[in-house]
Amino acid sequence: MKYIFHSVGKLCLIWDFVMNNPDKIIVATGDTKQLKNPESLSNVFTFEEYANHCIDLIFENNIMLSECKRLNNEIDKLKLKDVKHLIFKTDTDYKTIIDRYFQWTSEIELCDNNIAYTNKTCKEVSKKIREMKNIKDEFIIGEDVICRKYLKYNGKKFNVNFKFKIVNIIGDEIVLQNVSTDEKLKIVRWMVRKHFIYAYCYTCHSKQGCSVDGDIVIYDWNKWYCEKEWLFTAFTRAKDFNRIKFFKYDDDDKSKKVLNYIEQDNKSGRNISEDYVDRSFLMNLMNTHCENCGEVLTVDFENDKVVSNISCQRVNNDISHSKDNCIGFCVHCNCAFSNKISM
Ligand SMILES: [Zn+2]
Repeated sequence: MKYIFHSVGKLCLIWDFVMNNPDKIIVATGDTKQLKNPESLSNVFTFEEYANHCIDLIFENNIMLSECKRLNNEIDKLKLKDVKHLIFKTDTDYKTIIDRYFQWTSEIELCDNNIAYTNKTCKEVSKKIREMKNIKDEFIIGEDVICRKYLKYNGKKFNVNFKFKIVNIIGDEIVLQNVSTDEKLKIVRWMVRKHFIYAYCYTCHSKQGCSVDGDIVIYDWNKWYCEKEWLFTAFTRAKDFNRIKFFKYDDDDKSKKVLNYIEQDNKSGRNISEDYVDRSFLMNLMNTHCENCGEVLTVDFENDKVVSNISCQRVNNDISHSKDNCIGFCVHCNCAFSNKISM
């Protein structure tokens, strides 16, 4: 059984199953350092504490496994311990960690295991790879696609994140073969267009639980909402750390949101202080409340876009966006306040 922490409802299903089957021996594996649920599960515990608390409630006996069996060699296992410590126990920025332990690439590479945060990046990377492969048709036989939007057609179900191979194209009909079950299913072209993406680049959420043999290129790690668990989940897919590359962005590890704040402060002639807001400051605001109206501050997915109402409100207007001068406001309150001030 694989733990799913994506909603309390699913945890309840597992709990129910265990409670209703006292005669069965149930063995489960899970990792609370995997991707976080974007919605707040508890206002008493941190995510990890809450997840562990649930495990303790459902299962009487726990064993903590400390070695990553996926990795092929001892050097990588030691490396993993170092990187895990730096990510979760220190405030070292991602760029420094990547610099020290992994390789960079500034080109989109012809590899099949690209990992990104957003569907938008997945689509862009896939588009570029298809160009590099000189594929001009919308779909070709032999190409893999991933279902990104649930589809039920002619009594057949297509589940999100399942992978299919295009095995035949007859006019407007496309025959897809489920890669794990080999079952063949025929659907109409526009449905493939609407419900599937090319399988050259995956979201980290869909790669969770998978091992990757070949080369991996990781994108989107510089987005401000890219949490520590995301980074950890992305690179721990690899069996060999030497085959991991991170995509190099021009603006280094500063996210667009932080760069915007720097631009605002520069324009207004405010000093950019040492303790300037950064990714972890923004991430820590997630699931807290707007200090003005009380709205929960969240990061959400809407279609292909990541939307967030998180913003930093400066307490003292003469000082820049330094950490001790900023509090969490929802975007609406932030805009309302700045309008008031400018009037
Ligand atoms: Zn607000």
